[in-house]
Amino acid sequence: MTILKCSAVKCVYNKEELCSKGGIDVVGENATSANETSCGSFQERQEGSVTNSFTNGCGCEKIQIDCKAHNCTYNDNCKCTASSIQVDGSNAHESSDTKCDTFQCHCGA
Ligand code: SF4
Repeated sequence: MTILKCSAVKCVYNKEELCSKGGIDVVGENATSANETSCGSFQERQEGSVTNSFTNGCGCEKIQIDCKAHNCTYNDNCKCTASSIQVDGSNAHESSDTKCDTFQCHCGA
């Protein structure tokens, strides 16, 4: 499995830059650059909600990644084969504000 580091700290699943969701969906079917990808599992944390049922899981280092960005070198049948990836989105409020920074296009090379 892939090691995921994620800077989208406003996401309900984010635990100290690790993801507690257990598996995520990366989207960007026609992406040719990292900016065109995003984490489809991002969900903004609602300020003021005291309990948060999503965050009782661990912030696990390794995570299952389904990825639609099939132009990426690391994509094998919609699974990510990179040993580690970085998802960016320190100011993200919605899914489209995030991106897989590790995306590398094998297009046009
Ligand atoms: S590295 Fe490539 S295959 Fe892996 S999640 Fe990012 S865009 Fe998808």
